[in-house]
Amino acid sequence: MKKVQSTLRGFPVLNLAIAAGLGFALGAVTFNSTDSNAIASVKPSETEPVVAAAKAEPKAPKAEAAISIAKAVAAKPAQVEPQPKPVPQPESEPALASLPELRVEWHAETVKRGDNLSSIFQRAGLDAADVYELTSNSKQAKALRKIHPGQTLDFHIVDGQLQELRYNSSRLTSQHFVRKGDKFTTMESVREPELRPSYHEGTIKSSLFLAGQNAGLSDSLIMEMANIFGWDVDFVLDIRQGDSFKVMFNEKHLDGEHIGNGPILAAEFTNQDKTFKAVRYTHKDGRSHYYTPEGYSMRKEFLRTPVDFARISSHFNLRRKHPVLNRIRAHKGTDYAAPRGTPIRAAGDGKIIHAGRKGGYGKAVILKHGGAYKTLYAHMSKYGKGIRTGKRVKQGQIIGYVGSTGLATGPHLHYEFHVNGRVRNPVTVKLPKAKSIPKKERARFNKETQPMLAQMGDLQAARVLAGLEKPRNTL
Ligand SMILES: [Zn+2]
Repeated sequence: MKKVQSTLRGFPVLNLAIAAGLGFALGAVTFNSTDSNAIASVKPSETEPVVAAAKAEPKAPKAEAAISIAKAVAAKPAQVEPQPKPVPQPESEPALASLPELRVEWHAETVKRGDNLSSIFQRAGLDAADVYELTSNSKQAKALRKIHPGQTLDFHIVDGQLQELRYNSSRLTSQHFVRKGDKFTTMESVREPELRPSYHEGTIKSSLFLAGQNAGLSDSLIMEMANIFGWDVDFVLDIRQGDSFKVMFNEKHLDGEHIGNGPILAAEFTNQDKTFKAVRYTHKDGRSHYYTPEGYSMRKEFLRTPVDFARISSHFNLRRKHPVLNRIRAHKGTDYAAPRGTPIRAAGDGKIIHAGRKGGYGKAVILKHGGAYKTLYAHMSKYGKGIRTGKRVKQGQIIGYVGSTGLATGPHLHYEFHVNGRVRNPVTVKLPKAKSIPKKERARFNKETQPMLAQMGDLQAARVLAGLEKPRNTL
């Protein structure tokens, strides 16, 4: 068994392996017949050498390129060496260009309910012996165990003998099995979708979600936008009619079809006449965060609201009549009404200094953040996974779930914010800023983000010129 790992332009070739040794069969693959006659009917490898089509099928240009490389590898003599990043362009393969008449004929089969490899092979004009030959001569044929309805297999058959099989396990990945004598070489190829910039804008009349949907944004993009601006805008309290937003991201397209979206690249949110701008920046280490165009982090050290889209049911009030005790007792926090079981998130990175029952607070968690800050979360129905005193939590991590333990009339989160030992109103307290782009990284930051901001401006201008055409729906 020889295993070679190599990289082709842009996409990895995984486990380009030559399976040696016969008698390797797959348990999950069913055979109609494995009698010796059937096996004897398998032709020896007398077929002409396989030559890749010079012209790639428009449907899968990269995959085709990958196949031609697989062939180049398969055609090499016994010793297979790691490939030195060949460029899979037709013109770089004169042998192929000079034989344009040898076009590979592909035959596609779609996996149906109840199918197994044998039934699909039968439809393609092959038989159980071919299934056996492939699965026993390629370790990677294991992947074929996982076929499920809707996937496709492409067959290349010459004189009744399987030369190549392409198993499209998803829209973006496929495995190729290429005959080399009586064995099969295998490789996986990953396609990159085409990216198309997409710009959307809207004005809030009743709710952020409705406005987002009207602007053609998916719920997940709306959530993404709310998360980006969630540090500056309280989407529970601050939203007003007339607030507006602009969002740019890349749509992912494959074979002319919209298959998904990339993350938001640039966005603006105008809340009560104050405009916040954000742009996505990927650091050298690969982490991506959102910054203002000036390079200030959109993140603060704390989340303003530790529960998603809850409603404030009781404000911070030092002279409130307690609903259960029915006497004046300071309400030293903010109550967020939310259904029982709603996740409660750590408002900032910190250390758990209490996780357990605490009198009228019921099941409560207290976090310490740096030297000066503490946050308290009360009336939980249960704690988050792994939440124990002494452990550290990351901002946004689920520390518990909304409930009504302790002195509570109904399910809600009682949330307290303490600064230097004094309780403060979590809704109005000034939250500290997170790190901005350091001076020495500013040039790189500008180089990466300014084109995105300029592009959003261009797309917005184009939209105005086009006369506010109807927004398309996005995934
Ligand atoms: Zn409360």
